[in-house]
Amino acid sequence: MKKNGVVLLLILSIWFPVSCASPFVKEEPTLTKSALGMNTMVQISVYDDKVEEAVLDEAFAYTSKLENQLNRYAPDSDIAKINAHAGAGYVKVEAETLALIEECVQYSKQTGGAFDITLGALIDLWGIADGRNRIASQAEIDEALRFTGYENILIDKANHAVMLAKKGVILDLGAVGKGYISTKVREFLIEKGVKNAIINLGGNIVLIGKNKSGKPFRVGIQEPFAERGAYIAVVQGNKTALVSSGSYERNFRGADGVLYHHIMNPAEGRPVQNGLSQVTILCDDATQADILSTAVFVMGREKGLKYIQQLDGVEAVFVTDKNEIVFTDGLKKDIEVLRK
Ligand code: AMP
Ligand code: MG
Repeated sequence: MKKNGVVLLLILSIWFPVSCASPFVKEEPTLTKSALGMNTMVQISVYDDKVEEAVLDEAFAYTSKLENQLNRYAPDSDIAKINAHAGAGYVKVEAETLALIEECVQYSKQTGGAFDITLGALIDLWGIADGRNRIASQAEIDEALRFTGYENILIDKANHAVMLAKKGVILDLGAVGKGYISTKVREFLIEKGVKNAIINLGGNIVLIGKNKSGKPFRVGIQEPFAERGAYIAVVQGNKTALVSSGSYERNFRGADGVLYHHIMNPAEGRPVQNGLSQVTILCDDATQADILSTAVFVMGREKGLKYIQQLDGVEAVFVTDKNEIVFTDGLKKDIEVLRK
């Protein structure tokens, strides 16, 4: 229970800077709406002079629709259907689901398998996402690893169909779903005429336009393991998507003193232990940001930094378990480090 409380606080910590009087967003939004969704809090704040509440209601309904398409625990979702037919046959899915899965596979290849949406068997084994929190034995890990690996994803593009190569492989889009949905909600709001807004989907922050003073929004980056609202840095939102992955989000400390958390090293079948506590990605595509935050957390500081530096328009902030902060050169002008 205590753990859940901590998780909730941490989620709220990413909320409050925009919903309450915050040092980083000076003006109050014209309209803010929050609701629970995707196992987290979803908040949309609009800064336009005028905004119709109905537009936000529609945006929330759209969020639920997308969630029902991608959440593996929703029995009618595309993902649940693919999982249910693993090893048995192709499943026809929405064109958008197919495109997202293809994008994920592309990033798996690019990151040498650091990012992998087929880790369901491992994620279930450790039970960190759902709070069962157990330390898996090596034998259990070896068994689960037989049912992971993105090469198990088979795509029949012509028929908009996806199949998992063997029974027991489980797709889990936890590392990309929120980013993807926030991208889509951003597009939706822009189509509806919204010009200035902050969408906060459990810490995946997506920006439209500027604040009421006509300046870029400023967004705080949470200090890992600290109380809510304790920021390690503030960035000027010159990119429209800011997504963090961290070992402080869902975790437990084993009797062996090790912090076991929800980001898995797909090669080892265990939570990543590489001296990082958090990776934040800034770019103009929240789907890409969400994928990369998880991927780069797995790759570690050196490899991850090198990888990000050769991508166009992508910046990153790394926080180590000693609270050291490292960021890409492109952020120098836009970041204010609050703690070292
Ligand atoms: P995020 O908070 O975006 O880093 O996503 C973490 C979630 O993605 C976890 O709770 C798992 O559901 C899933 N996951 C864990 N490790 C990986 C990985 N290496 N690649 C892809 N998804 C992962
Ligand atoms: Mg992610």
